[in-house]
Amino acid sequence: MSANATLTIALSKGRIFEQILPLLAAADIYPLDNPDTSRKLILPTNQADVNLLIVRASDVPTYVQYGAADVGVAGKDVLLEHGGVGLYEPLDLGIARCRLMVAGQPDALAAAHIGRLRVATKYVRSAERYFAARGQQVEIIKLYGSMELAPLVGLADLIVDLVESGNTLKANGLVPLELICHISSRVIVNKAAWKMKHNRVMDLINILRQTVSTDS
Ligand code: ATP
Ligand code: MG
Repeated sequence: MSANATLTIALSKGRIFEQILPLLAAADIYPLDNPDTSRKLILPTNQADVNLLIVRASDVPTYVQYGAADVGVAGKDVLLEHGGVGLYEPLDLGIARCRLMVAGQPDALAAAHIGRLRVATKYVRSAERYFAARGQQVEIIKLYGSMELAPLVGLADLIVDLVESGNTLKANGLVPLELICHISSRVIVNKAAWKMKHNRVMDLINILRQTVSTDS
């Protein structure tokens, strides 16, 4: 593979994009467009052979798995749901940190309960695995957002969601009840790029690794 094969990096807008920018800058990669103001989904960079793909956070592993992008940056929450098929996960960037938690009304677990607890979540796989490991029979209800609403209107007893400050829960009268796991964003690489663009990918990962380890 020649040194100037292109490198395509899949990212999501918002917190991951904002937090990855200084890390990419350390690798001398500067996007030439701002995804918040540009409608472009393929962002060129100062390096003619490096492009950024702007995709939904939960779609990043899919783009990388199928080789549409060589490398991606995705939250551990998203990787746990995707399952990681076809992907290496060589580096924890320590950005976009939060916790995957069980939450609900303060008495949600204390209240006597008839039948299975209902759990509303976008994180079906992680929730299933968590409750199964504890031998708790629950009914999982898949939602795509605004999970905090579910306990307030009797759709579910509990939710499984990401918690950073806890302010969104608090604003809806909910409390964090159990920690499932800590979450941060990771670099992922598909197996083909790992093999065929190894030096290119390793150079990037090494710079990112040095930058995050001196930051913290
Ligand atoms: P979309 O907004 O497209 O539905 P999303 O909500 O997953 O997707 P973001 O809100 O940008 O997208 O979150 C991207 C990643 O950032 C998540 O996968 C998670 O790893 C992390 N994240 C999400 N919420 C928080 C939070 N409150 N604090 C810190 N990190 C978070
Ligand atoms: Mg979001």
